[in-house]
Amino acid sequence: MKPRKPSIVYWLGNNLYLNVTNRCPNNCYFCFRNFTHTLKGFDLKLRREPSPEEVIIELQKVINQKNWDEIVFCGFGEPLERLDCIIKVTKWIKKYHGKAVRIDTNGQGFLLNKDRAVVEELKEAGVDRISVSLNAHDTTTYNQICRPDFEDAYESILEFIEKSSKEFDLEITAVTVPEVDLPKMQEIAKEMEVKFRLRRLISCFW
Ligand code: SF4
Repeated sequence: MKPRKPSIVYWLGNNLYLNVTNRCPNNCYFCFRNFTHTLKGFDLKLRREPSPEEVIIELQKVINQKNWDEIVFCGFGEPLERLDCIIKVTKWIKKYHGKAVRIDTNGQGFLLNKDRAVVEELKEAGVDRISVSLNAHDTTTYNQICRPDFEDAYESILEFIEKSSKEFDLEITAVTVPEVDLPKMQEIAKEMEVKFRLRRLISCFW
C-alpha cells in the first residue's frame, strides 16, 4: 500500500490548520500524539519540517476553496518552535488573503526564542489571536501533567500570557483532566483579564 503523505495543511469545520512542526518542549501525558498519528483522516506525523515556501504552496491549493474563518498554526507540535516560519507564512496570508490568523501554543515562546522580541514580531507579522494551553493552576501541577523540558516553563508561560494579552485577542485553555482545578484556572483568567476555554481531552490544542 502506498504510504499516506503527511499533511502540512488540514481542515476541521471552517478553519484551516497548519502543521509546521512535530517538535515540542513538553511531554504531556494526555498528548494526542501519544495515541495516534492521524486526525480526521489527515496524517500529522511529519517526516521532515516544511519550509515556509512549502507551507505557502500547500496553502495555495486550498485557501480559496472555502471562506475559511481562521487559519490556525496548530499541529502535532509547538508552532513557536518555528517563529520564522510563522512570521513568513502569516505575512503572506495577510498580504494576499487578509484572513484571521491564530496561533495555538503551549505559551513557551519566550523560552524557545530567547534572543527574539516574540510578541512584537508576531504582532508586526499580523497575527490576530493566540490561544495558550496553560493546562494547570500552578507550577507543581503543570510539571506533573505536562512534563516540560524547561524548569521555569509555567512562570514563563504566565509572562507570555501577560505580555501577549496586551497585543492580541488571547484566551487560555485547559484540558479536562482530573489534576486541574478549574475554578482556580478561571480565577487566573479573570485576574489576567483573558478568556478561559475548557477543551475536551481529545487533542493537542484544538
Ligand atoms: S499536548 Fe501540546 S504541549 Fe503537550 S506535548 Fe502534546 S503538543 Fe506538546
